[in-house]
Amino acid sequence: MEGTLCSRCKRRKAIIEIRYLNERLCRECFVSFFEKRVRRTIRRYELLDPKDVVAVALSGGKDSMVLLHILKKLSKKAPRSKLFAIIIDEGIGGPRRKGIEGAMSFCDDLGIEYHLYTFKEELGLDINGIMERASKLKNPMPACSYCGVFRRQLLNQKARELGATKLATGHNLDDECQTALMNFIRGDVSRIARAGAVVGVIKDPLFVPKIKPLRESPEEEIQVYAELSSLPVLGSACPYAGDAFRKQMREILSRLERRYPGTRYQLLGSVDNLIPLLSMREEGEKPRLCEVCGEITSGEECKSCAMRRELGLRPADL
Ligand code: SF4
Ligand code: ZN
Repeated sequence: MEGTLCSRCKRRKAIIEIRYLNERLCRECFVSFFEKRVRRTIRRYELLDPKDVVAVALSGGKDSMVLLHILKKLSKKAPRSKLFAIIIDEGIGGPRRKGIEGAMSFCDDLGIEYHLYTFKEELGLDINGIMERASKLKNPMPACSYCGVFRRQLLNQKARELGATKLATGHNLDDECQTALMNFIRGDVSRIARAGAVVGVIKDPLFVPKIKPLRESPEEEIQVYAELSSLPVLGSACPYAGDAFRKQMREILSRLERRYPGTRYQLLGSVDNLIPLLSMREEGEKPRLCEVCGEITSGEECKSCAMRRELGLRPADL
């Protein structure tokens, strides 16, 4: 791209190639293109109201940091809205701990209130302790299964207790496509129905609607945007290997995207077209409340309480 001029302003040097648009953009044009797309996602899916109280799930990784940075910029135009961050420390330590520290000081720099919760305090054990207990079970699950369920439940519960009307997460285009492929392959129709820019067919005061403003932003562009905006992303690497099946999906999708630029947007479009059809099936199903903790569940006991019971952790407070 050495010496190539930006396809938009035709004046400045291009720094990034957007293959699915067949364009090369300079720094300024890329930043404005990126932010405009996030605003368009918010408008298109009606993710925000001017009076929303938005909790951002902040991990210290690039996605949630970029999300907070952009939502902060947008909040200036919505003076009646409120924005704060929720940080969950799973107790993984290492680079992930650095990410959490980075997230806290980023909030301080932006003047954003944040609330930090730890697995250790909320569950009685951190993720390492949980995995130690799990190793003694007959059929232990991978770390990400426990971590994901507990984190999701804590985020929803804390966002609700803190008065949030929306919970914003940093899920990007790649996450969404990987999840979609995984659900298609597993034939998990209800999960496909529950995907989308606003999560939840369920409408219930116990459930804070989850919104994904970066859903149409590719991962590699989020990385470039974070670097250009000098965001203090210290990484959130986790020693637990991560989901192996998801990794396969990531490889398949990046191969497809290289060969057929725009594949990810096509897949996202297919999911969006399917959601209304699949949601009709789900709408008749009334949400139930977990008999142990009172949170929303599809069975008698929610996943988080079932895991707590199996692992011998203290039950959630009612
Ligand atoms: Fe948790 Fe898995 Fe993410 Fe590590 S990789 S933070 S265990 S979900
Ligand atoms: Zn429960």
